[in-house]
Amino acid sequence: MKCKICSHETHRIFTAKILNKYDVQYYYCNYCAFLQTEEPYWLKEAYGISISITDTGIMSRNIGSSKITATILYFLFKKFDKFLDYEGDCGIFTRLMRDIGFDFYWHDPHSTNLLARGFEIKSKNYKYELVTAFVSF
Ligand SMILES: [Zn+2]
Repeated sequence: MKCKICSHETHRIFTAKILNKYDVQYYYCNYCAFLQTEEPYWLKEAYGISISITDTGIMSRNIGSSKITATILYFLFKKFDKFLDYEGDCGIFTRLMRDIGFDFYWHDPHSTNLLARGFEIKSKNYKYELVTAFVSF
């Protein structure tokens, strides 16, 4: 398998179970040290239901992220600037930021926008003043 970063040849380094059912091969590039999986065939299933039933902190993380982001935006950006939450999951963060008063938009090709409907990204060519991309673990 070719490295997705530098195109050099990789070698299989280990196998791990994903979604508790798929044995996925991991490949390592000696040239650039990039670790990658085999071509991912499980993404649609993995992102089909983006909120895990065991995730009891999703709202508090989003509220915390929105407070930090709002503080930064308030002091460093203009009031009517447009912002984008990239990989915005079901739209919690976008909804919170819009409710605070910021002109936020949502984008996530792997999830369904449930809470920020009507505020999906309008055009991929539009330039936003800031793009957020929070990942929770
Ligand atoms: Zn590489």
